[in-house]
Parts: sequence; C-alpha cells; structure tokens
Amino acid sequence: MTDVEIVGSGPNGLAAAVTLARAGLRVRVYERMSHAGGGASTAESVAPGFRHDTCSAVHPLAIASPFFRAFGLSRRIAFATPEISFAHPLPERRGGAGIAYRDLERTADALGRDGAAYRRLIGPLSDHAAEVARFTGSALLRVPPHPVVTARFGLRALAQGSAAWNAGFTGDVAPAMITGVAAHAIVRQPSPVAAAAGLALQTHAHAGGWPIPLGGSQAISDALADDLRAHGGEIVTDHEITSLDELTAPAVVLDVTPRALIRLAGSRMSARYRRRLERFRYGSGSAKVQFALSGPVPWADPRLADAGTVHLGGTRAQIAAAEGEVLAGRHPESPYVLISQPSRFDPSRAPAGAHALWTYTHVPTGSTLDRTEAVTRAIEAVAPGFRDVIIASRSWSAADLQSDNPNYIGGDIAAGAATLGQLLARPVLSLDPWRTPMAGVYLCGASTVPGPGVHGQSGWFAARSVLQHEFGISRTPSLAP
Ligand SMILES: Cc1cc2nc3c(=O)[nH]c(=O)nc-3n(C[C@H](O)[C@H](O)[C@H](O)COP(=O)(O)OP(=O)(O)OC[C@H]3O[C@@H](n4cnc5c(N)ncnc54)[C@H](O)[C@@H]3O)c2cc1C
Repeated sequence: MTDVEIVGSGPNGLAAAVTLARAGLRVRVYERMSHAGGGASTAESVAPGFRHDTCSAVHPLAIASPFFRAFGLSRRIAFATPEISFAHPLPERRGGAGIAYRDLERTADALGRDGAAYRRLIGPLSDHAAEVARFTGSALLRVPPHPVVTARFGLRALAQGSAAWNAGFTGDVAPAMITGVAAHAIVRQPSPVAAAAGLALQTHAHAGGWPIPLGGSQAISDALADDLRAHGGEIVTDHEITSLDELTAPAVVLDVTPRALIRLAGSRMSARYRRRLERFRYGSGSAKVQFALSGPVPWADPRLADAGTVHLGGTRAQIAAAEGEVLAGRHPESPYVLISQPSRFDPSRAPAGAHALWTYTHVPTGSTLDRTEAVTRAIEAVAPGFRDVIIASRSWSAADLQSDNPNYIGGDIAAGAATLGQLLARPVLSLDPWRTPMAGVYLCGASTVPGPGVHGQSGWFAARSVLQHEFGISRTPSLAP
C-alpha cells in the first residue's frame, strides 16, 4: 500500500518525495524518462566523453534555498564555486568586460566610477543573502519573514525595473552586468519582475557564489533519489502517467504544469478550477546549443576563462531590445546568450584538455529554429577562433525542449511566464497554491510558488501541505544527512 504517489522526478518532485518519506510515509515516484532528475540531469549527449547538463547547470539556489540547506546538500555532494560568478564581455570602447567576482569589493573596484553605485545596489542584499533566499523562496502572499531586507529588496527591484534604471550609473558595464542577470527571467526589460529575479541571483553571486556540482546537475538528483530510497521510497522510471485514474494512493503530488493537470484530471476537475488554471500563461521559449570543444574557449579577454557563467548580448539597451524581439515573436539577430563552462572547474565533464560548453538563448514560444549559428557567431565575436575548437555541437529548439520534457510548454523553461501577477498567483491566488480543490491532489512543480530553479522549495511546500491536510502531521520532518 502506497501513501503518496508523485508524478515527475524533477527537483521539486524529489524534494516532495524525500520530505514525505522522511515523515514515515510510503512514497512512489513515477518518471516518464529513463532516469530520475528532470531539469537536474546530466548526459553524454553531444560526443563520447563529454557530459553536458541537459537543463540546469549553475546552482546558487541549490546552495542557498531553505529546502536544500535543511537537506544538507552541500555536505552530501561536492561543488566547485568559481571565484568569478559571472562575466559580461562588451567591446573595449564600451568599457570592456564586467567581471562579477564573488568578492563584491573587488567587483566594485574593477568597475571604476560605477563601483560605488554597484556596491550600494547589491551590498545591502548580499550581506543578508540567507534572508533574501528565504523570502524569494516563499509565497509572497505570506508575511515576509524579514521586513527590512524585503523592503530593501523591493525598492531596488522597483528602481531597477523602471525606466530610471540607469540612475546612478555613468558607464555601460555595470548596467549590462545587472541586465545580463535579470534577463534570466525571460520577460520584458526593464520590468520589476526581471529586476527581482536578477537581484536574487546577483545577491548569491556576491555571497555563496554560483556553484557547479562536480559530476553535473545529476549529482543533485542522485543525492535526492538516494535519500528517498534510504527512507523506503521507490522511483519507477519509463512510466508516463496519462490520467489521475491510474493513481490509487490517498495523496497525489504532481510535478507538472497546470495545463498537464487539466488533461490528467479530465472530468474530475471542477469547471471553476479549470478556468482558473486556464488563465495561467506560459512564457517565451529557449533554445539550447551544447558544444564539445578541443580546448578552452579562446576568450579575447583572458579573465573570462575563470568565469563559471558568461552572459552575451551587449549593453543593457541591446539586451532589452533582443528580449523585446523574442517577446514580439522574432529571433533576434544578436541574441542574449547564457554560457556555462563547467569543465573549467570540473574535469569529469570532458576528456583531458577538452571542454564541454553549455549554452542557451531565448526564442519565441514553440520555435523550431536551430540557433547553433547565432550562438556560435555571438561567441566568436568575443572569442576569435572559437569555431576552430569546436569538435561537435548539438542543438535543441524550443519545440525539442518540450518534446524532452512536457513541463517546458513551447520551450518555456520556467514552466510559466514570470509576470508580476504570476509571482503572486502561481498557479492561482491562494495562501496554499500547491493544494488543489480536488481531494488529495497537489501540484509541486515550477509552475507553483516560488517558480523556476533548482531549489526544491515548491516540492517542500507541497509536501508540508500534504502532511498537514492528508495525514494530520504538522511537524516538518528533519531532512538532515
Ligand atoms: C536549458 C535550461 C537551463 C536551466 N538552467 C538552470 C540553472 O542553471 N539553474 C537553475 O536553478 N535552474 C535552471 N533551469 C530551470 C530548472 O531546471 C527548472 O526550474 C527545474 O528543473 C524545475 O524543477 P521541477 O521539479 O519543477 O520540474 P522538472 O525539472 O521539469 O521535472 C519534471 C519531471 O516530471 C516528468 N514528468 C512530467 N510529466 C510526467 C508524467 N505525466 N508522467 C511521468 N513523468 C512526468 C518530466 O519528465 C520531468 O522529469 C534551467 C532549465 C532549462 C531547461
């Protein structure tokens, strides 16, 4: 007899599973893929000997999130934390590359005249990174646990999300660095939501850093799966659930989108709740291009070799324009590109001397376009000779991302647009958005509060709601190793 069935083994599905198993319940997870992990997986997908992360690659949230801190992730697996969290190359005439060292003072010093403004923006947040992680990782409708830090954060997000976002800055470099991080949100620039997402990530860039798990993101999923099994849980792979009728446990937790829940529930869902879920909006797509390289990227600025992450796309205005093109349904000529160079810090990712490069870029929803050439051109512009070190590459269009994982609707890797409304109502406006009106049915994926990222928070919150409402357990179990 199973107490809880979980559909989907992404980080949220596994976080829910671990929490429930630790509370003494019998838990079974179903996963349609042949391995557990969802968006935290690693595979030899481009060339033999090269291990690329299939989705997430860089993990500030897996270090800072309250769930993973309770789980003791950093005591279970090893991370490499680059001294440079991210870099943002610009042409020399624009001021050269912006380098976000973990050390905020060093970053500010390198920014010259704009250093003080950068320090004023980030310092009061990175000094309180744990509090920032706690409130950005919880439901905004609930009372913020740290009102002063929350207010500081909110005021900065409003300023950086407004037309006056350049106030206080004189050059191009610091604003480009800030927008390069805010663009992770895949929404219009400037906007308060993009600024908030960016500030949350930037806080970690100058606190715990932007770590990379040794062995790849799969190591995070394996740590969760091992703990689940150690507590009696079970993971059934190669098993797609197509209807809630296939599930028989008293409680069911779904690591899927609202759109998938509508399909799985069929006539069991009330028309009212269906209408509420149908209002949930999905965002623009992403397209991935992974490279196997014969050597390191020949960056024109050698400092970029030591950056875990590199953002391309030019100045703040150029990135805003490119992201606007995507929202308007077009593929930008000079796109915003996110790059991770894991093999610089983790030799297990590529054969000796060779390198695995992970990139993606934003595209219109449902795009079927291969963006290899656009991404290659963008890298070549700041790393002349890049084409010569490419051994192999592989592209996934936005449509391919959805085929691999149905949670990425139209290639939307956030499983739901990061709009202001959907920060509050994710997927619906409720103090307990994980609990559905259907008896014993819960949602736990990135379409629920607090949204995308490998943080496990949605799964943890959903599991705590299940414990309370289905099993009368109000104490959260210890997750410690
Ligand atoms: C290209 C890319 C880059 C990213 N980069 C980062 C990053 O660097 N850092 C970061 O923190 N986040 C990153 N993310 C986001 C992160 O991967 C996701 O937000 C996170 O994985 C969401 O976790 P989840 O558990 O909600 O869902 P998912 O990870 O999407 O997992 C859902 C799982 O459910 C399974 N499933 C769905 N439907 C069914 C069904 N009916 N039956 C059985 N199984 C089912 C799927 O196969 C999948 O395994 C990235 C995502 C992508 C795609």
